Amino acid sequence: MGSYEKIESALIHAGYENDKQTGAVNVPIYQTSTYQQDGIGEMRGGWEYSRTGNPTRQALEKLIAELEKGTAGFAFGSGMAALTAVLSLFKTGDKILLSSNVYGGTFRVLDKVFNHFGITYSLEDMTDVEAFEKKLTPDVKAVLIESPANPLLTITDLAAVAAAAKRHGALTIVDNTFMSPYLQRPLELGADIVVHSATKYLGGHSDVVAGLAVVKDAKLAEQIAFIQNSTGGVLGPFDSFLLIRGIKTLAVRLDRHTENAQAIAEWLAENPEVSRVYYPGLTTHPGYDINARQAKNGGAMISFELTEKHDIRKFYKSLKLIALAESLGGVESLVCHPATMTHAAIPKETREKVGITDNLIRFSVGIEAKEDLIADLTQAIQNS
Ligand SMILES: *Cc1c(COP(=O)(O)O)cnc(C)c1O
Repeated sequence: MGSYEKIESALIHAGYENDKQTGAVNVPIYQTSTYQQDGIGEMRGGWEYSRTGNPTRQALEKLIAELEKGTAGFAFGSGMAALTAVLSLFKTGDKILLSSNVYGGTFRVLDKVFNHFGITYSLEDMTDVEAFEKKLTPDVKAVLIESPANPLLTITDLAAVAAAAKRHGALTIVDNTFMSPYLQRPLELGADIVVHSATKYLGGHSDVVAGLAVVKDAKLAEQIAFIQNSTGGVLGPFDSFLLIRGIKTLAVRLDRHTENAQAIAEWLAENPEVSRVYYPGLTTHPGYDINARQAKNGGAMISFELTEKHDIRKFYKSLKLIALAESLGGVESLVCHPATMTHAAIPKETREKVGITDNLIRFSVGIEAKEDLIADLTQAIQNS
């Protein structure tokens, strides 16, 4: 920890003090797979092989650990690689409870990959913590939460669920992709592990696919370091550099993202052509109070439905500024269609049960001028 107090400063300075040899203010890209040893067992600074450790990746890992208030961070080649490493902590007979609007890929890796190893899961509503606690049977070894959850922005009381999980000996894993440590720090609320698709807000420019995991506990840190090195899904030096570069501007980007999102959510809520708006920064959102307690604001993801008379295929086709694309969290505004895109891996029946209708539009609000975004939405709604 350097000589600063606030996260805005940590974003820029944590994890790296300038290069000892040159004074370079940015971490060099150590584009190397291996390191010369001076003699058998005589490694310089402990560097041995870049799957095991790389100075550029290490700078990123220290940065995210400090930002999330953990003790150890781990960088992976994607968010799914980070989640896969974390889920590799579990073994045959273990059960994992997922929040019901979990990311489609997380559902898929448990449903179609970890099932091969006898690890089971179930999707649970965690909004009623008392009812949820009854689901924490002895075989449940972890609870995996997204808050806000994808794509209906459902809010879970992270501190309450983590406390319940702890009472039953289960770990709490929070996928903090939608918030980032600038808006929410789950380890401070009692979670054991935080994971990120750093592809999203942390990278912030839709130019890198990456994942991160952070823990507090030394034993968990040791276990995940072992899994990271054994299974090998590490992030490369150049992508680590890109991510560090993206993270430096996280605070200024998210201030604009969330200001835009709040204004657009309010505009959508007033719009007679819009039948539903999901945004945790609206006081009408059922999770508003809990979110306000555990996060800085409502974030920058909005989901909404147009009234029945609109053809949403035409809506997507008519957008001119806002692009139809997978992913989120970049400076540019993107919309997606969860039913056929991000959540297509979830069977229709399950999807409808949790409220992901075929009419749902998910909007990752970018940092463009909000007037331009509202103008684009207005004309696309008119043309649909
Ligand atoms: C995108 C995403 C992931 C997967 O991350 P990748 O970087 O695409 O592998 C996991 N969780 C959430 C919430 C996501 O949005």
